[in-house]
Amino acid sequence: MNMDCARIVVGNWKMNKLPKEGSSFVEESVNLLLDVERVQVIFCPPFTGLLGMNLEHPFSLGSQNCHWESQGAFTGEISTRMLKDCGVSYVILGHSERRQIFFETNDWIKWKMGAVVDAGLTPIFCIGETLEQRKSGQTDQVLTQQLQDGFEMVNSFKKMVIAYEPVWAIGTGINAKVNQIKDAHLQIKNILSKQFPKNILADFPILYGGSVTSDNAEELISVPGVDGFLIGGASLNIDSFTSIVRIVDKN
Ligand code: PEP
Repeated sequence: MNMDCARIVVGNWKMNKLPKEGSSFVEESVNLLLDVERVQVIFCPPFTGLLGMNLEHPFSLGSQNCHWESQGAFTGEISTRMLKDCGVSYVILGHSERRQIFFETNDWIKWKMGAVVDAGLTPIFCIGETLEQRKSGQTDQVLTQQLQDGFEMVNSFKKMVIAYEPVWAIGTGINAKVNQIKDAHLQIKNILSKQFPKNILADFPILYGGSVTSDNAEELISVPGVDGFLIGGASLNIDSFTSIVRIVDKN
């Protein structure tokens, strides 16, 4: 399996799986995905699952969050320094559950983006509109604002992963339609092309996230502009997760 390939599948386990359950899931995935060549797989376990993860496999390790300071009196938080020490190379930032349940603001997210990039880690930067915003025609405006704010503290970077995750599609069983995804990904590319030179843009894969399953993965990976998936629910089950990776590899 090539670690630096164009397509990416991220498994966001959220607050699920004990460390032992996580590491055996990863070991099993190694065996089931031996012949996969075109997909980089990134596992994002909860913090307790990061430390004991065996890194002698072809997958990458990601964190679901981090703080922007490198150390100090920030009860309950974790720094990029600590994450690097666990072998983490990616950090999910701006996830809608962090924005909505934990009231993370665009300011917090931009400070985190700055810290993650400065630490040499790759952000998996999540953006997306709520149902109300979509219904009132604000999708483009919301995506533009989230991208502009998120990049405010970022001066230079080697790699960035963007995940378009319409909030109404996350964990609901209702994935966005092909045209909605195509339009949003195009819009994201247009916004980015105004901010960054073409050669850098090639290193900005744009993932789709929101109720991806093994049943809809084939249709969704064929949408122009979709470079892979960020998966929540379906990443918890070894059969559904590995079959999605296989579908991405073949299509
Ligand atoms: C997510 O948590 O980012 C997500 C896309 O979840 P789900 O696949 O369950 O919709």
